[in-house]
Amino acid sequence: MTDRYAVIGNPIGHTKSPLIHGLFAEETGQDMAYTAIEGPLEPHEAFAETVRAFAATGGRGMNVTAPFKLKAFAMADQSSERAELAGAVNALKFEDGSIIAENFDGIGLVRDIEVNLGLPMAGKRVLMLGAGGAARGALLPFLSARPIELVLVNRHVDKAQALAAQLSARGPILACGYGDLEAMGRFDLAVNATSASLTGDLPPVPPSVFSHQGAAYELAYGKRLTPFLRLARNAGVCTFADGVGMLVEQAAEAFDWWRGVRPETRAVIDRLTVPLD
Ligand code: NDP
Repeated sequence: MTDRYAVIGNPIGHTKSPLIHGLFAEETGQDMAYTAIEGPLEPHEAFAETVRAFAATGGRGMNVTAPFKLKAFAMADQSSERAELAGAVNALKFEDGSIIAENFDGIGLVRDIEVNLGLPMAGKRVLMLGAGGAARGALLPFLSARPIELVLVNRHVDKAQALAAQLSARGPILACGYGDLEAMGRFDLAVNATSASLTGDLPPVPPSVFSHQGAAYELAYGKRLTPFLRLARNAGVCTFADGVGMLVEQAAEAFDWWRGVRPETRAVIDRLTVPLD
């Protein structure tokens, strides 16, 4: 029997997940169907009811996107440490009546940077802008990649400070505000995990953080050269990327978790890439 999966979000019309998982299923020969579900925003419990109904009618797993990542975490019976830290999940598996939750965004991001872009983070100075769901999901995977220093910056600096305090035993992480960045020197890798690019805005980051041999990564995708990437390019950064590789890599992690087989990602990334220039 064909196994059923879905992505749930609202709005959901923009999602690339059915295309990505359809290509993965074709490539790996898996008998599965993957659809998109527009989740209900109201009343509060309607989201959980929709997920439970999908599982009760034979659904095997779901991807979860905005604005439901927190609600999905809250309804799970089990979740991984990185999901706990993020307080948000982007993948669910339904097994023996239980809902198991994972957050693959951070692993997907690290894999895109280290494997696809060929930029190992070990021994490097890394700057992360933003302390929302995506940044939170990335912190443990980033520290596992052993940078010499991970600096977390947020507009509301208290959020960044709380995260850095929570993770201080796991690696060299520190938090600061945008106003402190001029004094922080250059970074080998600067990652924009804010949502500023979705509205064409630029976080107040000074060009002095970028280094000439360094890299700049924008989590938003399909938006060409965002103000952040443009600033980095003008500052002389030589490697740029947007989040399309992260999107495909997190999908591959979920696929492997569900199906026990890891699909190839290169051709799918190429197919979804919108050139930056
Ligand atoms: P959240 O809403 O959870 O967090 C938003 C973050 O952005 C907060 O830290 C907020 O700061 C900060 N922010 C918003 N506007 C500005 C601004 N103008 N200047 C400075 N900081 C700002 O969003 P997510 O973490 O879910 O998403 C962040 C980005 O990552 C989005 O662009 C999203 O599309 C992308 N993303 C990409 C994925 C991929 O697969 N490529 C997967 C998931 C997300 P404050 O706390 O101070 O308000």
